Amino acid sequence: QSLLQVKDLSVSIDNELPILHNINLDIKPGETHVLMGPNGAGKSTLGFTLMGNPHYNVTNGSITFEGQDITDASSDKRAKAGMFLSFQNPYEVPGISLSSFIRNAYHAQTGAPVKLLAFQKSLKAAMEILSMDESYADRDLNVGFSGGEKKKAEILQLLMLNPKFAILDETDSGLDVDAVRTVSKGIEEYQKKKDGALLIITHSTKILESLHVDYTHVLVKGNIVHTGDGSLVDEINANGFERFV
Ligand code: ADP
Ligand code: MG
Ligand code: MG
Repeated sequence: QSLLQVKDLSVSIDNELPILHNINLDIKPGETHVLMGPNGAGKSTLGFTLMGNPHYNVTNGSITFEGQDITDASSDKRAKAGMFLSFQNPYEVPGISLSSFIRNAYHAQTGAPVKLLAFQKSLKAAMEILSMDESYADRDLNVGFSGGEKKKAEILQLLMLNPKFAILDETDSGLDVDAVRTVSKGIEEYQKKKDGALLIITHSTKILESLHVDYTHVLVKGNIVHTGDGSLVDEINANGFERFV
């Protein structure tokens, strides 16, 4: 049974520039897929499109989530259905604390009231896993956060919202070795939970060292040119994308 099915998906930006060409993906519950490819290949475009960003126009094909066609669904609806995108460049949100932001997102996603004490307890536990100081919970979301702290805040949302499917777009870019290890630990924690599936977009491989990977896809110029298992990550690490270009 598929969780996310992408069929012959072609995408252009603002109806003009074609970026993605006939993309096919089949992601099952519990699977971790990695999407690699050179700069400008269209990796973030795929992430935004899967999440329903209105700037990206589907010109062909379909996206199905848990058997429902969501090709034209709003981002909001996709989030409620259990989809999550961690941004390559997280937004700063002045006036809303990290803790309230996550609480609101949780409430919006589940529709259920948030039990404050239980919420604070699990937030604290998740922050500990990510070596985040407790004080960050009360700080404005991402405002004045370093690159590494912003990425940790994204993974914190992943752990707290516990979506069915998460796209992590270059969550490792610009991080020092310690931060990469921490972020990777957070992702590993998510993998341990139930049937959560991941699409990890990256062009480095450090973050993947301690993670189980089921499939690796190589995206070049808007086409998936190769799909392999987890060992493809190591091969690309050693030889780059040369043979796929
Ligand atoms: P990647 O994430 O693989 O580096 P992107 O998806 O960001 O690649 O970009 C793919 C191509 O689409 C690039 O040529 C980029 O310049 C172009 N592109 C992406 N977003 C936009 C946008 N909002 N407007 C115009 N061009 C864009
Ligand atoms: Mg890039
Ligand atoms: Mg990108």
